[in-house]
Amino acid sequence: MTTPPPEADLLLLLAVVLPPRALDAFGPVVDERFVTTTYGDIGPLALRRSPSGRGVWVQPYNGLPSRTDPRSTLLAARKLGVQRVLNWDTAIALNPLLARGHVAIVTDYIDFVRHQPHTFLESEGITGIHQSPAVCPQMSEALANALPMAPGCVYVGVDGPRRETAAEARMFRLWGGDLLGHNLVPEIALAGELELCYAGVVTVVHASADRFSVPVEGETRAALELVLDALPHFVEMLAAPATCGCSQRLSAPRKRGTLANDWWSAK
Ligand SMILES: [Zn+2]
Repeated sequence: MTTPPPEADLLLLLAVVLPPRALDAFGPVVDERFVTTTYGDIGPLALRRSPSGRGVWVQPYNGLPSRTDPRSTLLAARKLGVQRVLNWDTAIALNPLLARGHVAIVTDYIDFVRHQPHTFLESEGITGIHQSPAVCPQMSEALANALPMAPGCVYVGVDGPRRETAAEARMFRLWGGDLLGHNLVPEIALAGELELCYAGVVTVVHASADRFSVPVEGETRAALELVLDALPHFVEMLAAPATCGCSQRLSAPRKRGTLANDWWSAK
């Protein structure tokens, strides 16, 4: 018996607030689904389909500590046959070159989340120490093509819901962080364990607490519209199956050459 092809291979996690009609850019809703997982129920996930036939699952998302166990979202993606997960988040700018209304693409991250599960461990057949998951190169390249003005940035994931202190903002900046947010971590690591592609695009909504705040002049709304215009192109660019290797992240033979491997092989 063959498995039917999935309705869509992309899940869009929306951690931004948009007007109700905004998502029509991805096509009309053609299905809605609730998914039950070991870690909680997810839904309704809306399946939208563009005139070209490309389908996208869309799920509103927030990374507050009260949220559903993030493992349930990634497991739901796998149950739906999704290979790619894109998280569109809002974030605070640590880098002084970034300001409210800027758009950035996440290229790497620092995990400072302390109160969420960071691994599936043996519950999903995952054992041992594995390479730290990175963002999907193919999805990031498509994002860069769709949003050529957006710089690549290092994202610091924190728990929230409180804002950072000025001292924390300086510390995160010294660590190399450009953005601070609540929604991409630990999801990116969990996606890596399930061998899913994961990428993040971020709309900057505040400057960090160690910097002066300037009056709001509609920058965030303009930036949201910019991303909203670009994402349908991003979706079409990913029409072909993934060739990035993320789906064999754990099952591919381990690379030799790390210090630990060399030490063991020398024994
Ligand atoms: Zn990938």
